[in-house]
Amino acid sequence: MDECGLRHCYPPTFALYKTRSEVRSRLSFQPKHMTFNDLGLTEALLKAVADKGYETPSPIQEKAIPRVLEGKDVLASAQTGTGKTAGFAIPMIQLLCKEPPKNKRVIRALVLTPTRELAAQVLEDIVTYSKYTDLRSMVIFGGVNQNPQVNKLRAGIDILVATPGRLMDLQNQGFISLEHIEFLVLDEADRMLDMGFLRDIKRIMSKMPLRRQNLLFSATFSREIRALANGILTNPVTVEATPENTTAELVNQLIYRCDAKRKTELITKLIWDGNWHQVLVFTRTKHGANRLAEKLNKAKITAAAIHGNKSQGARTRALAGFKSKEISVLVATDIAARGLDIPLLPYVINFELPNVPEDYVHRIGRTGRAGASGQAISLVSADEAEYVRGIEKLLGMRLESEVIEGFEPTKGPVEGGKKRVQGRGRNDNRGRNTNSNSQSNSRNRNGGGNGGNRNFRRKPRNNSGSGNRD
Ligand code: AMP
Repeated sequence: MDECGLRHCYPPTFALYKTRSEVRSRLSFQPKHMTFNDLGLTEALLKAVADKGYETPSPIQEKAIPRVLEGKDVLASAQTGTGKTAGFAIPMIQLLCKEPPKNKRVIRALVLTPTRELAAQVLEDIVTYSKYTDLRSMVIFGGVNQNPQVNKLRAGIDILVATPGRLMDLQNQGFISLEHIEFLVLDEADRMLDMGFLRDIKRIMSKMPLRRQNLLFSATFSREIRALANGILTNPVTVEATPENTTAELVNQLIYRCDAKRKTELITKLIWDGNWHQVLVFTRTKHGANRLAEKLNKAKITAAAIHGNKSQGARTRALAGFKSKEISVLVATDIAARGLDIPLLPYVINFELPNVPEDYVHRIGRTGRAGASGQAISLVSADEAEYVRGIEKLLGMRLESEVIEGFEPTKGPVEGGKKRVQGRGRNDNRGRNTNSNSQSNSRNRNGGGNGGNRNFRRKPRNNSGSGNRD
């Protein structure tokens, strides 16, 4: 344990549990715990939270909200899916409301996020929680015309959510002043560092008053994050979302071994046979994401790619289509997927394993969010054996691995699990190893849904998976 008490913050929470009640008891929104009334919130906030349908605070909210209300700097270990946004937004809004907005509004709170999607989602939450207050908030990010943003800034706002690039851009043009900042929130700070935003963050901070309240949220705590925290936070309190009893054994994860060149065929079969919708697929490269989305579309599975080379319009459309279930499969790269809030996501498939084991954890954290169960499946070829080892080391457990009949790898078994052949026709148990006592097997088969019903929607015209506009 170090001075910040950080050892227990890592690895982060996995959210892949078998049943809703298991999630409730193990992970998050436990009725026997506090209520929002116990947290010292004002009527305006309580009403907004009730409207949103939240019954009880999540662990990170229970821990963070009172400390932020006390005016403390907070270092929080929490990834997306734990309710962290409300954990910082609700108390921040309450404190900002103590003082009515001045005649000419000034920006009093800044939330920095690594990606445009996360920025948009954070703003959406802030608007929801502040709906019974006089506060005004807005989001700025790159990839879209700056003029509407500038006009809105001119009208005056209290809370600004921003990605670092566009913020600095508008600051340099004189449209933004950070002289009156009272709150700074760094959301997903680890990812901001991964994306090379450290210098930008420092530059942005240099334009703020020294006296302010700082909140730093991060899923992981590397040496760099600790250094950043030391430079920003004053006598911080540390809070973490990972409960002690979170165990990786309950995570529903499965590897299917196959040859690299047959992965497209296999993923198509899995999605078709299982009649899966709302599948988030990860590829290692942007190009790979485009290619796979195209091939899935050709196989009559509606799919769109989301990654950094896509225009903001294409990214927003793809995400909206996925959320509204017009698109069954979203193919994403790690950075693009980070921070996406897609409730009740049932399936995550690693088309390729990430070479950084922590990214695997982030990826599978996309499923089983806020009380839902989910499955994480990885298609693993022989050349990825080393990645499997790295992930297993990080998780501290072996991953179950299987082979689908007809897709046996020709290049030798991937390490990291027993060799098992499973017959996988729809509702078809032929060829399955009946000795299997794997829990994940039965869960995966159950997740197959009504296999005979091939009712995928056709590709919407304006949601082509290709294109590199920016
Ligand atoms: P976040 O970690 O902030 O991205 O939140 C993840 C999801 O949990 C979002 O869809 C939130 O709306 C939802 N959520 C946040 N707090 C609660 C709560 N106390 N009860 C139920 N759902 C919540």
